[in-house]
Amino acid sequence: MKFIFVSGGVLSGLGKGIVTSSIGLLLGRSGVKVTAIKVDPYLNCDAGTMNPYEHGEVFVLHDGGEVDLDLGNYERFLDIHLSSHHNITTGKIYRSVIEKERKGDYLGKTVQIVPHIVLEIRDTITKVAAASGADVCMVELGGTVGDIESMPFLEAARQMHMVLGSSNVLFVHTTLVPIMGVVGEQKTKPTQHSVKELRAIGIQPDVIVGRCAEPLNRSTKEKISLFCNVPTEAVFSAHDVPTINRVPLLLHEQGITDHVMTRLALAKRETDLDDWREYTRRVEEPEEVVRIAIVGKYTGLKDSYISHYKAFEHSGAEACARVEVEWLNAPEKGEGYEKGLKDMLEALRTCDGLLVPGGFGIRGTEGKIEAIRFARENDIPFLGICLGLQLAVVEYARNVMGLKGANSTEFDPDTRYPVVDILPEQLRVTQKGATMRLGAQKSIVSKGTRAYELYKREEIWERHRHRYEINPDWLDRLRAGGYVFSAVSEDGIKMEIGELPRNRFHLGCQFHPEFLSHPVKPAPLFLGLVRAAMERKRSKGV
Ligand code: GLN
Repeated sequence: MKFIFVSGGVLSGLGKGIVTSSIGLLLGRSGVKVTAIKVDPYLNCDAGTMNPYEHGEVFVLHDGGEVDLDLGNYERFLDIHLSSHHNITTGKIYRSVIEKERKGDYLGKTVQIVPHIVLEIRDTITKVAAASGADVCMVELGGTVGDIESMPFLEAARQMHMVLGSSNVLFVHTTLVPIMGVVGEQKTKPTQHSVKELRAIGIQPDVIVGRCAEPLNRSTKEKISLFCNVPTEAVFSAHDVPTINRVPLLLHEQGITDHVMTRLALAKRETDLDDWREYTRRVEEPEEVVRIAIVGKYTGLKDSYISHYKAFEHSGAEACARVEVEWLNAPEKGEGYEKGLKDMLEALRTCDGLLVPGGFGIRGTEGKIEAIRFARENDIPFLGICLGLQLAVVEYARNVMGLKGANSTEFDPDTRYPVVDILPEQLRVTQKGATMRLGAQKSIVSKGTRAYELYKREEIWERHRHRYEINPDWLDRLRAGGYVFSAVSEDGIKMEIGELPRNRFHLGCQFHPEFLSHPVKPAPLFLGLVRAAMERKRSKGV
């Protein structure tokens, strides 16, 4: 087993995750079996309890792990399924060490950060990598070199290098190369300083990837090489490109694949990038543009919905179109609601499709319901995800079946028509962390429905993350009212997809299809929405 540690210097947000995914992709496409681990130096045990509007999306894995969004990038780039063990946090490491201490595993010893926490990190990384059966394990070290909280992880990496040797452990350091002044000089000092910091803790990087607005000049690479003690061929330029899909291609052209494979003594093979190149071309040169509104809680952070954007990118590439996402803020009941509603519907009228994503809490729900109503009444293609499905059923109950005040008990515990209710097993839940209905679950799709048309199979596995469901006590009445449930859980109790056959495309799902969308295998429901939106646009003659 070989390890590639990817660290970051100077500042956060340099795209370490993309560099990690890109190197993994290049090795994978050169015949190496690759897996990936993300290390997050925070005390939360997982990302499930963190605010997606601050930290970015919570990504959900097959086994129900609620993890950092970088694992989503690994899955999409490497075309693999990871488990929750692949996201190691300080919280998990400390919890395990403290549990062992209580059990008496360290009896007689003083339990300390060095050696115990560091050893626990080493053990965990090694076990996870071994269990995956991969040849190479990418390990992305979250945080920035120099942060107090990253120290034990860097120390673990240093020790692993010492124990396993240079042909088994490689250090990639990602830094920033700013361009200053009127002449546009590329500055290497921040890189020099962060490498100095790394070397002070005993790590000599083998590869340096410099983030820069422009391609790194030869002289910049030489300077980094000289001052950071790496050969010039080991300095790579990660300059601005139209889409992140280009990053692996960019690094490959500069020779990173060969360099890394030689350094790790991996047998060289052809790197097959044809479909990736074709995918990138389709994303960058679309034949048409289609506008789809997302109605949700506005967030300045694009990362809060990264898998939705990616799923649109995948479907767009398949359909030769670019999906332009129009963010519409769901108005809040109270002062200004009417005006907010009018503005939202005005904007929605100009779009070709509507997506209502998952969500928690009452804020904006009435506005979302109005958006769904507008889409249903005006035959605008609509996809509702999780909360989006639940609100679509509430909307149908209220406005088609005449059940005034119908609601989810999440938002109105006393509603006379609780068409959405808490899952019975959730009533016993007292702790918030990792207790929702999570991860991949099987659903059975009914033939002759829109859902079947899209999936083309009866048995599907999709990832879930919710506490509420369509109320089983209301199924007969909803069905009698014309609402169709086209996919259900294996036991037939939980409704997984709902649709309105009369509409061009009006569909909701209890699961999150965005988590399984892949560049060359787009999520069927997203593809369905995009194609229906394109159809609508064409029929309008625009
Ligand atoms: N709040 C809803 C539930 O818990 C929807 C969750 C979601 O959209 N992920 O069921």
